[in-house]
Amino acid sequence: MTTTLASPATRVTRAMSVRLPWSPAIIVGGKTPENRGRMPGEAHRGKLVAVHVPTAVTPAAVRDHRITRWLQCHHTQVWTRIRDLFDREPEALKGMVIGVVRFAGWHHALPGGFCCPDWGDREYGSGRPAVHIDLADPVPFRTPVGPFPGKLPVPWKLGDTAADRVTDEYHRSVR
Ligand SMILES: [Zn+2]
Repeated sequence: MTTTLASPATRVTRAMSVRLPWSPAIIVGGKTPENRGRMPGEAHRGKLVAVHVPTAVTPAAVRDHRITRWLQCHHTQVWTRIRDLFDREPEALKGMVIGVVRFAGWHHALPGGFCCPDWGDREYGSGRPAVHIDLADPVPFRTPVGPFPGKLPVPWKLGDTAADRVTDEYHRSVR
């Protein structure tokens, strides 16, 4: 896993709500891109975004072959806290921020599925072309932070107190 060194001034002020099991797949499973229906605002390019777990497990997603393969292939991962929670107690992750990623960029999915193999979907929702958000530098939190209510915008703005807590844990975890 690659991480960037955080300057003490780095503050995490935005979050993205991603349902289980997709959220830990982003943080520890190498899932990139994130599939969405529209592009984030240009101001978010290159910015750190907290990954927030809004709800309990989506049963259909647990059966997705990409998730199944990830669960089978990551038993040797050094970091186990979120995996353990995900495996044994997914409800405990509800509302929690489990890590931080960087929004490296984004693009429309190429017709015919010729980009972002594996995690990139061609369509989002009911037939709309997907936007692929390229995620970089995932930092899993040593201890999930929250709970916070989720929001739909990508990304959404953390309240000041939530941003403080997320930023503190980011700096603790990135070292
Ligand atoms: Zn793509």
